[in-house]
Amino acid sequence: MRAQRVVVTGGAGFLGSHLCERFVARGAQVICMDNFLTGAPVNVEHLMGRPRFRLVECDLTGFVHVPGPVDLVMHFASAASPTDYLRHPIQTLKVGSLGTLHALGLAREKGARFVLASTSEVYGDPLQHPQTESYWGNVNPVGPRSVYDEAKRFSESLTTAYRATHGLNTAIVRIFNTYGPRMRPHDGRAIPTFIRQALAGEPLTVTGDGGQTRSISYVDDTVDGILALADSSLAGPVNIGNPAELSMLELACLVRDLTGSGSPIRFVDRPVDDPHVRRPDTTLAAAELGWRPRIGPEAGLRRTIEWFERELPEARSAS
Ligand code: NAD
Repeated sequence: MRAQRVVVTGGAGFLGSHLCERFVARGAQVICMDNFLTGAPVNVEHLMGRPRFRLVECDLTGFVHVPGPVDLVMHFASAASPTDYLRHPIQTLKVGSLGTLHALGLAREKGARFVLASTSEVYGDPLQHPQTESYWGNVNPVGPRSVYDEAKRFSESLTTAYRATHGLNTAIVRIFNTYGPRMRPHDGRAIPTFIRQALAGEPLTVTGDGGQTRSISYVDDTVDGILALADSSLAGPVNIGNPAELSMLELACLVRDLTGSGSPIRFVDRPVDDPHVRRPDTTLAAAELGWRPRIGPEAGLRRTIEWFERELPEARSAS
């Protein structure tokens, strides 16, 4: 069922802003709540004049109030890039715990469906490949990445407890690496980093020997999957991601080719607890939601590079 009045927490971030845009385009009223820790009003500036869209500055870890009815709460607030969550470790744990508690409380008060943005990082450095939803994961609870991974694991647990205890209509989506327009060039994630470096003619910094893999999903595909889940009654957890798996070195070379850059590759230290492999098993999403990704890495990267060139012309300086 399509929601009429939607709260999107973290709506001024990368994924949240695409969600807000799609809900407004579908005719829903959208209340976007964000404290701008890693997002910014500019991401939803184009929606600002629309009568169906409202941006509210709000820290989800504090008091949360929304007047009037709400039939869907999309809980996307959380730093998501390693650079961001390592810079804001306590805030990341707080928004995953207290923020999720408050977002669940809001959904309960309004009788709304609740969708939690979880992550493939709950699988940690996986011992099962590809990862199915039934895999429990391999996370170091005291490693540096645990501030994000464990916050998300806790938020999944809390969501499940609200469903069991209060009968709340909940869903959990485990999102795999997603990329596209509105990523920040310095957010530290591989794709914006490679694009920025390639456009500037700087060396592309590949960690380790570049053999570790990621499966990258273009934002439009990811958002289609998330909306299909929101519209359904499925509880999940459900993986949403593109099973097209690339090594980091292959990804760097692809970005370099698509930008026409002459940048060299530079190998740098691998971060602690960096997963060796990552690939979603999307059988459940295909069977239950009829969803499958449509945009391959080359087409998606072309669109993303075009956006970086258009929006950040200063990026192409030295090349
Ligand atoms: P992002 O950093 O661009 O967006 C997160 C947003 O949450 C930002 O606008 C930030 O200001 C806001 N926020 C953070 N703490 C807050 C708080 N206490 N109160 C209110 N707002 C707060 O990141 P993103 O890539 O858009 O990720 C969005 C969500 O999707 C996150 O929950 C993330 O864990 C999840 N996710 C993203 C990916 C991905 O590949 N992009 C993969 C897996 C999961």
